[in-house]
Amino acid sequence: MEALAEHTIAFSGLKDGTHDFDFMLGADFFAATGEEELEGGAVQMQVRLDKSTTLLVVSMHAEGAVDVRCDRCNTPMQQPVDGEQRQIFRLTGEDDHEDEELVTLDASAHSVNLTHYFYECIRLALPIRHVHPEGQCDPEVERALQALSLDHEPTPDPRWAVLKELQNKERNS
Ligand SMILES: [Zn+2]
Repeated sequence: MEALAEHTIAFSGLKDGTHDFDFMLGADFFAATGEEELEGGAVQMQVRLDKSTTLLVVSMHAEGAVDVRCDRCNTPMQQPVDGEQRQIFRLTGEDDHEDEELVTLDASAHSVNLTHYFYECIRLALPIRHVHPEGQCDPEVERALQALSLDHEPTPDPRWAVLKELQNKERNS
């Protein structure tokens, strides 16, 4: 996704140790994801950055709600999200490809942008299927769905028909 400037952390001026940041993700963020499915939302992203001379450990905690469509009635709903994700950045500039969890930053980098990692964190926290809580779907759609399921009453097992026919034959013979 598109990186948003407000999610860039300039780490070169920070002392070694932990630093806390708070980001509020709203309409701009969800528009930048380019995913039509994510119509909006309000998610608080708490970031703890642990800096050492060689590594940046970024711990993220996402909490809030994302505006999506209900998979059952297709009307808007808010899907609560609560998730955690960690990303480690190596600052030495040497990429030995040994650990996929590590992202190596250019040795001359002074800052890191986290938009993409926020997106990953929220995506992982979102359930695959989102449905209104029981009884809160659009009542009109609910009625239509019920009517549909009545139309599709299970037809009797065809084996019974065969059996009946056999019985009739026996009786008639
Ligand atoms: Zn629904």
